[in-house]
Amino acid sequence: MIPFVDLRAQYQSIKSEIDAAVLGVLESGHYVLGPEVAAFEREFADAIGVRHAVAVNSGTSALHLSLLALGIGRGDEVVTVAMTFVATAAAIAYTGATPVLVDVDPVRYTMDPERLEAALTPRTKAIMPVHLYGQLADMDAILDVASRHGIPVIEDAAQAHLASDAQGQCAGSRGVAAAFSFYPGKNLGACGEGGLLVTNDAAIDRQARVLRDWGQTRRYEHAVLGYNYRMDGVQGAILRVKFRHLAAWTAARRAHASRYDQLLAGTSMTTPRPDADGTHVYHIYAARTVRRDEFRTHLDAAGVSTGIHYPVPVHLQPAFRDLGYRMGDFPVSERIGAEEVSLPMFAELTETQIETVAAAVRSFDHAAV
Ligand SMILES: *Cc1c(COP(=O)(O)O)cnc(C)c1O
Repeated sequence: MIPFVDLRAQYQSIKSEIDAAVLGVLESGHYVLGPEVAAFEREFADAIGVRHAVAVNSGTSALHLSLLALGIGRGDEVVTVAMTFVATAAAIAYTGATPVLVDVDPVRYTMDPERLEAALTPRTKAIMPVHLYGQLADMDAILDVASRHGIPVIEDAAQAHLASDAQGQCAGSRGVAAAFSFYPGKNLGACGEGGLLVTNDAAIDRQARVLRDWGQTRRYEHAVLGYNYRMDGVQGAILRVKFRHLAAWTAARRAHASRYDQLLAGTSMTTPRPDADGTHVYHIYAARTVRRDEFRTHLDAAGVSTGIHYPVPVHLQPAFRDLGYRMGDFPVSERIGAEEVSLPMFAELTETQIETVAAAVRSFDHAAV
């Protein structure tokens, strides 16, 4: 069976480095935060061109702290997209603010800037685009709308480590703050949970550091109601090791994606159409087919695992029923929900595996006619 993602293959490829890093932390006694976490913050911030990074225990926590550091709460609105992982909208709801949804662009699958302006109200306190599947949202257009209205942009960069635009500006470097996730299956994944808030704003950095550690400004002095959102020392050490390999892994993902593009041309699959000038990092190779369920059954029988990202858009999730949206409100998101299929994608994928996937797609097409 070709897995959708193979976390053990990655570990095996750098086992001695990871094992040494973990043992180093075990022997150091720095089990929560500590020097490895601080070094990782510095290295990641430098690599993507931001001043500050605050390591936390998940991407969701990083989103939550970004919003809290901007003072967002009850009575406020934050605009985000209907097609994303539920965490984006959940983090907004945790603050007491209301997630206001807009549809995504039908080609790029990220926030449609044309629909953004109509969603803004006097209560809008932030705009939260998602760099879905590893491709930057149209930040020029989004920042243009945001700056005309004086509204800060927080980037959900959970799927977009090292993604960049035509000018080489990285995901996470242009908003007032951004959140990355290091959930194991992400392009840069911990061996457990992890996340990072990045910002160029010293006040946001300071506030996020206080909030992640129980609101402490000094030991046992809790200036504000804070959280236990700190990153583990072991995860910091592992992330430092893996981060050194991320550029190579990303190049491999991009090569696999272009191989899929070639081999799937002329099939029934709608393959991704990334912005030609940017660097899509292919967290997900998001294809589409109208007969998705049959397609996935066929691929499964051919030994190919696939995924769906995501079958139910945020506005149709029972957890968000109170927002009052209905089927039909966001047709592009709904269509992605019905048609998207994610093909196996990870750095260690082999040419033979990619050919097997492509052959399974072609045999599906033949069986159908
Ligand atoms: C993974 C993910 C998150 C949440 O990150 P966690 O580390 O799992 O909390 C948020 N937004 C998007 C788009 C994600 O893919």
